Amino acid sequence: MANHTPMMQQYLKIKAQYKDCFLFFRLGDFYEMFFDDALSASRELEITLTSREGGGSERIPMCGVPYHSAPNYIKTLVEKGFKVAICEQVEDPKVAKGVVKREVVQLITPGTIMEGEMLQERENNYLASISNDSDSFIITYTDLSVGENSIAIIKNGWNAVISELFQRPVKEIVISSNLSENYQTELQARLQVTLSYQDETIIENAYVKLADNLETPELKQAFGRMLNYIQRTQKRSLDHLKPAQIIALNQFMNLDMYSKRNLELTETILRKGKHGSLLWVLDHTITAMGARMLKKWLERPLLNQSLIDDRFDIVEGFLEQFFEREKLREALKSIYDLERLAGRVAFGNVHARDLHQLKQSLNRVPEIKNVLSSFSHQKITSLSDAIDGLDDLHQMLQDSLIEDPPPTIKEGGIIKDGYHAQLDDYRYASKNGKQWIAELEKQEKINTNIKSLKIGYNRVFGYYIEVTKANLHLLPDNRYERKQTLSNAERFITPELKEKESLILEAEEKSVDLEYQLFIEIREQVKAYIPALQKLAETISKIDVLQGFATASEINRYVRPRFNINRDINIKQGRHPVIEKVMKNESFVPNNVSMQSNTDMLLITGPNMSGKSTYMRQLALTAIMAQIGCFVPSEAADIPIFDQIFTRIGAADDLVSGQSTFMVEMLEAQHALTNATENSLILLDEIGRGTSTYDGMALAQAIIEYVHDHIHAKTLFSTHYHELTSLEEALQKLKNIHVRAEEYEGNVVFLHQIQDGAADESYGIHVAKLAQLPDKLIDRASEILKQFENNEQPKQVSSVKKDEDAQLTLFAEESVRYEKNNNKQNKLLKELQNINVLEMTPLDALNELYRLHKKATDSGGGKS
Ligand code: ADP
Ligand code: MG
Repeated sequence: MANHTPMMQQYLKIKAQYKDCFLFFRLGDFYEMFFDDALSASRELEITLTSREGGGSERIPMCGVPYHSAPNYIKTLVEKGFKVAICEQVEDPKVAKGVVKREVVQLITPGTIMEGEMLQERENNYLASISNDSDSFIITYTDLSVGENSIAIIKNGWNAVISELFQRPVKEIVISSNLSENYQTELQARLQVTLSYQDETIIENAYVKLADNLETPELKQAFGRMLNYIQRTQKRSLDHLKPAQIIALNQFMNLDMYSKRNLELTETILRKGKHGSLLWVLDHTITAMGARMLKKWLERPLLNQSLIDDRFDIVEGFLEQFFEREKLREALKSIYDLERLAGRVAFGNVHARDLHQLKQSLNRVPEIKNVLSSFSHQKITSLSDAIDGLDDLHQMLQDSLIEDPPPTIKEGGIIKDGYHAQLDDYRYASKNGKQWIAELEKQEKINTNIKSLKIGYNRVFGYYIEVTKANLHLLPDNRYERKQTLSNAERFITPELKEKESLILEAEEKSVDLEYQLFIEIREQVKAYIPALQKLAETISKIDVLQGFATASEINRYVRPRFNINRDINIKQGRHPVIEKVMKNESFVPNNVSMQSNTDMLLITGPNMSGKSTYMRQLALTAIMAQIGCFVPSEAADIPIFDQIFTRIGAADDLVSGQSTFMVEMLEAQHALTNATENSLILLDEIGRGTSTYDGMALAQAIIEYVHDHIHAKTLFSTHYHELTSLEEALQKLKNIHVRAEEYEGNVVFLHQIQDGAADESYGIHVAKLAQLPDKLIDRASEILKQFENNEQPKQVSSVKKDEDAQLTLFAEESVRYEKNNNKQNKLLKELQNINVLEMTPLDALNELYRLHKKATDSGGGKS
């Protein structure tokens, strides 16, 4: 280090404090990176790697990005999960003695981005932190862009922590440096997030109020970890942060990460996109704020019936009045993202255009209030009353800002005339001066009789009088002072002109400065409205989500469900909300779900592809839709409120990555079995597929019995083990149902209809045929199936268990017999192939057939 130039020493000193970040080191118009940072940045950003002298023996690797295009590069790095420390020159290079002073002014990390272009409009961007004490974990969430802070207390172990975090779009997790290594690895592996460390947890005075809701020192500490991290990264005022709210997890339906993923609530398993998810069907929100709220609701369905009913009532009210609803939707279109705007106001980086948009949003609020009050449902009109239109703020913006302000705030042209007397004076002076100049031009044209004489302006010479060379002879000597010669004209000035010029320029300069000051003042005034703006944003988001439910319910013909406390399920003609939307040619076949108090379990059999999984999921999705306050896809639905939903998809259907091992399947089953209550809903889809037949079947049966006897949760269990259907006799609350399929000319026709009783065939081979596997293969499979159905294989397997020796002999005998048969069949086949059918008489043919038949049935071969 000693050998390095002073600037490199400064660099290394700062870099030592930001080891886990790319350090963007400001050098003139560039941000430069050095050493390892340069090597990896050149790779990640695909920019050229160079090097420079730095005083040491070797040249230093270096790469850089221009200051003005830095945001794009930062975005790329942050999206890849990296952190970037922005190091600026904090003194004027002209007055600096020695190396210009530099400091890191902000850290941009995946969980703390504020910049509009880096954020996804319709998604929250969460930073989470984890703290733990002896018996619980505390998770805090912050969405810095909107100022939201919330805290979840997890009492049932580490797995629940992972499940909880999985439910939120978390980009980065702040932890203490002594969180167990295992946990750290698991966080990175399973959630693929950036980890950051923060050990200081004492809350600074300025933020103590935010922790008022937190009762224990542990909670305050956990929140303190988060606040300290935010301060350390942002290094500026954060007035928009809202007080931390405890998330009462027991007020929400518990959906573990497997279920959330399996049910494809917000994204599909395969493509990871919104398209094809439940969110995709339900999202008819207009504003980005509403879209974000909808996603939150979907992740946390409610348990409290009266809260759900409130939502239903409003949806119903919206549904009843189509025209008013359309008006409302129209008005919502011009509502800007107030929630994020409030965040940016606090951050101090809003421009005149943002405030202009705020003004336009506020413009529309009275209209929204009006439309809402035109609904006849009382719960909607009271929403209207709850909206504070922020008239003072609106008026202030109205009075101060011009329409369509420019993008920059430092060049004037933002503030309206009449808003500020001094500004008006400057503007008058400048305008007046300009008028005087226009007057002068007119006068001089007359005096000199030069029609083309004109007065112009440029930055170097200021105002000048220009006369073309052709007209110079008309100008009396010494009339003006010569200033500049062009190829075909001369430019002159006069003392009077210069005098006016300085008046004009001074007035303009002052007015630009003053405008900037006034704008900053306005921005400060808006700051005082942040909490009110946040409240307005919240009410509007809620209205938006609920009108969206009404819209979705109307388009898709959903009905208002009813809840019962007897754990009865009665769904008439229910549908799968997503599949019915993606089906193009055929129409979805609706089905009833009926589980009264005498039925806790449905055992579903039926051919592959008949609709077992669809039927099961449609029940879970219906329950979730109901509990977020949306109507549901059926003709009528009467259901319980479920405290939790568990789903386990057997290995065969589990398409996701390498995780579909049998062990994972069992772990997930274990999770459901230990946590479910009688008020839960459990979906077990072809469980036991990941292991050998008897193993799997034994486990499946044991699981069914266990759930039936000990948990009593409403359970749907689909299986390809037909043997299990006999359980109906032994288990009182288990009922067999099946999906109907019919055979038609050797092909299976799926009717997707649920019926009572067990299915009689598995139709697997028919499906293979549909998939156009080779005919030969299909024939062979049918043949093997017949053998199985004649019970050959099971006999063999059961003897294996008895005795190994016996197994070996049996196996040997079996294979000899198989070989013999095979040889004989081959011979017969050859003979058949060799027959020349075309040259045979009918009698020859008959004789030959007789001979072959005899050969085939002789000496114990053939079918038996
Ligand atoms: P299984 O689980 O029995 O193998 P799935 O539930 O995966 O079958 O359904 C297979 C396909 O059948 C679905 O992707 C869908 O296209 C179609 N399907 C399922 N249920 C229905 C239904 N009720 N109406 C129309 N088509 C359906
Ligand atoms: Mg299935």
